[in-house]
Amino acid sequence: MKKRLFTPGPTPVPETVMLKMAEPIIHHRHPEFGEIVKRVNDNLKYLFQTEQPVLTLASSGTGGMESTFVSLFSPGDTVIAVNGGKFGERWVKMPNTFGLNAVEIKVEWGKAPTREQVLTSLRENPQAKAVYLVHSETSTGTATDIEGLARVIRENSNALVCVDGITAIGAHEFRFDAWGIDVCVTGSQKGMMIPPGLAFVAVSKRAIEAMERSTLPKFYFDLRKALKAYGNNDTPWTPAISLIIGADSALQMIHAEGVENIWRRHERLATALHKGITAIGLMLFSDSPSFAVTPVWLPAGIEWKPFNRTLKDKYGITIAGGQGEYAGKIFRISHLGYFDELDMITVLSALEMTLFDFGFQFELGSGIRAAQASFLTTG
Ligand SMILES: *Cc1c(COP(=O)(O)O)cnc(C)c1O
Repeated sequence: MKKRLFTPGPTPVPETVMLKMAEPIIHHRHPEFGEIVKRVNDNLKYLFQTEQPVLTLASSGTGGMESTFVSLFSPGDTVIAVNGGKFGERWVKMPNTFGLNAVEIKVEWGKAPTREQVLTSLRENPQAKAVYLVHSETSTGTATDIEGLARVIRENSNALVCVDGITAIGAHEFRFDAWGIDVCVTGSQKGMMIPPGLAFVAVSKRAIEAMERSTLPKFYFDLRKALKAYGNNDTPWTPAISLIIGADSALQMIHAEGVENIWRRHERLATALHKGITAIGLMLFSDSPSFAVTPVWLPAGIEWKPFNRTLKDKYGITIAGGQGEYAGKIFRISHLGYFDELDMITVLSALEMTLFDFGFQFELGSGIRAAQASFLTTG
């Protein structure tokens, strides 16, 4: 059976990238590797739309986020974090663990934070050193207006604008420099289309200045060390060589397609999938849909476990379930990274056949037809 992965991390890895990673390992002090690192660094700047450094760490995305808390702040510093899902919740817990004072902006799951909420929190916490935003909250499939919120933060405070871009980079429009962002993190197993194990952290001049003042303890995740090595196309510790070679190949694909075309492709895929799902008679979960992952309410009478097992065992399709209080209530289909139009037709087809197996009342083919029509009319 052909296996197909529709999860928001890990995401499918293109064949050309897998073949590159399968080549014999090279040594990281060899000049050949330095050239690869340089090319990766340049293409990362393109992906993040920045002239600032984008640091590569050997860790998952969470480690990249941890590096920003320990490297930029000092004990007792206040950071504001938007919590509208599983990941936002993590960016409240994590700074508290390190002795920072995390102030939470609580947002209902499936809704995006508003400018008023951010402004109110900034007024109540004028000492805040940073605001952490999640661009695409993967647990709820919800997108945040980073450009608009960054402007509110910049115009009303000196707080750094820090973005969890882990499922947004490579799916949503993102302009680090033009939008005045200070920190943005992504992970390799999401829009970058490579296996898990790398985190990428873009840092602005203001973030670099904050690093120089920071007194929280750190060693492996000290971004000052990463930045120093970055200047020599190097890393402070043994890099994840094979993954960096994979990133080089994937970033060349990203460059060839063009980042704006990639954003448009993700919007096109998400839109067609939404139309297909609605045509079947299912309901979307989010009020502000992410272009990376689409959460859908499970219809009444269908249980997540057998539903998921049928998709997996009968059709070879892996999707994600709900998290937290929405476990068993929603399912999530990802279209982040290496996906095209026919992948959306495939997943809708498997979804329809599974719903049919469970006796759900709808017209077989209605979802596929709506997605096809969407592709044909939006190009
Ligand atoms: C996947 C994800 C993370 C966590 O990244 P890990 O690589 O699992 O550590 C954080 N934030 C968002 C929005 C994610 O999608």
